[in-house]
Amino acid sequence: MTMLSIVDGQTIARIKRSSGDLRGVFSLRAWQTGQIRKCVSYVRENSEFYRQRLAGVDAEKLDDACLLESLPFTFPGDILDAPEKFLCVPAKEVGRVVSLRSSGTTGQTKRIFLTGGDVERTVDFFAEGMKPIAKTSKKAAIGLPANALGGVADLLVRALERNGVSAICHGPVVDTATAALLEGCGCFVGAPVPLLKLSCAYPRLRPMSVLLSADYIPDAVMERIRENWHCEVFTHYGLTETGFGCAVQCHERKGHHIRHSEMMVEIVDPFTGSGRPYGQEGEITVTTFANAAMPLIRYRTGDIGSVDVSPCECGGTFPRLGKVRGRFCSDGINPSIQELDDIVFSDRGILDYSASLSRAQSKMSVELEAVDAPSQATVLAIESLCMRKGIYAAISHRGKASAGLPQKKRGISLID
Ligand SMILES: [Zn+2]
Repeated sequence: MTMLSIVDGQTIARIKRSSGDLRGVFSLRAWQTGQIRKCVSYVRENSEFYRQRLAGVDAEKLDDACLLESLPFTFPGDILDAPEKFLCVPAKEVGRVVSLRSSGTTGQTKRIFLTGGDVERTVDFFAEGMKPIAKTSKKAAIGLPANALGGVADLLVRALERNGVSAICHGPVVDTATAALLEGCGCFVGAPVPLLKLSCAYPRLRPMSVLLSADYIPDAVMERIRENWHCEVFTHYGLTETGFGCAVQCHERKGHHIRHSEMMVEIVDPFTGSGRPYGQEGEITVTTFANAAMPLIRYRTGDIGSVDVSPCECGGTFPRLGKVRGRFCSDGINPSIQELDDIVFSDRGILDYSASLSRAQSKMSVELEAVDAPSQATVLAIESLCMRKGIYAAISHRGKASAGLPQKKRGISLID
C-alpha cells in the first residue's frame, strides 16, 4: 500500500477546511480559481501596483475557464522597480523583509515582504515536506547561514524542530574540527555544489539523506553525492518570492509536490506567454494567492520546468513540478551555466568552477577546481560546447580549495 505524499495530504486538509470537498486535478483547479478570484480583489484593493496593473479587470465577471489566462503577468523587474507598491498590509504587519540581489547585471536589490502568517505557512510546508526526507534522523545539518531570523535556514530549523529533529546551521566546512560537529547528522540540506564538495572531502559523514535546493541541480552532482555518502538525494524548488518553499520531492522522487493550497503553478511559453500543455517545458509562473503581505499574480520566475499530471506512485494525484532546468535567460550568457554544469560535474575529479565570458573577444575563460588535472574528455567537451556557440574556450585548473569553501563560486560572469 502506498502512502499519500505528505505535501498532497496537507493540501487536501487545508482545502477541506476552507471548502469541504476535493476530488482530483479538476476540482483542485476549480478551488484554486476561486482563491485567485479572491486574491485579485484583495490585491486590487490593497496594493498600489495591482490597483494600476489590474485597473479595468473585474475578476467577478471573468469566466472560470479563462480567469487566470485573462490576467496580466508580473515580472521580476516590476518588483525591483518599486517593491513597496506590492505591499498589501500596513508596514507594522510585515514580519519579514527579504532583500536579495538581482541575478541581472544591474546589481539592484529585490525586496520581498512576508507577514508572520506567510512565514508560518512556509514553516508548515517545510515541516511536512521534510518528514519523508529526514525520516528517523534526530539531527540535521543545514548548510545555509543562520544569521537571519525568519530567513530560510531559521524556518527550516523551526520546521525540523517541530518534527523532533534538532538542526545545526553551518557555513563552509573548512577543517576536520568543523566537520566533526556534523557527525551524526542523518540529513543534510543545502545547495548542490557545497554539498558535493563536503561529500567528497568527508565521505565518512554518511547521512541517510540529502535535500538539495536550487534552480538547477545537475544529475551528475546528485549521483556523486549519492555515491560518496550512499544516501538518498531529494530535490526542492523554491524562491524567495514564494516565501522560499514551492515544491519538494516525496519518497518516490519523481517530480516535486507543489504547495497547491497556497499557490498555482502554470507553465508558459517564455517568448509569447501562452500556456503550455501539461508535460511540455516552459517558464514556471506562479500565483501566490495565499500570501497576505505580497501576493503575486502570474509571476514569471525565469526558471524552466514542466508540470506532470500523472498520479505519483506515492498516491498523490495532484500535478507535480518536473525537473527544473535552470534559468531561461541568463543575461545573454551562452553557453548557459546549466550546459557547463553538466559537463564539468560529470568529471569526478572536479569540485567546482568559475567562468568569465567576454562576448567582445568571443572567449570564455573557465577555471576548474579539481582534485587532479581534469580529464582530456572534459576539456574537449568544454571546448566543443564553446565552439558550437562560436566562442573560444581558455581552460585552466587549480588544486582543490578547502572543502565547502569555494574560492570562486560556480558560475559564469560577463566581463564586458
Ligand atoms: Zn509523490
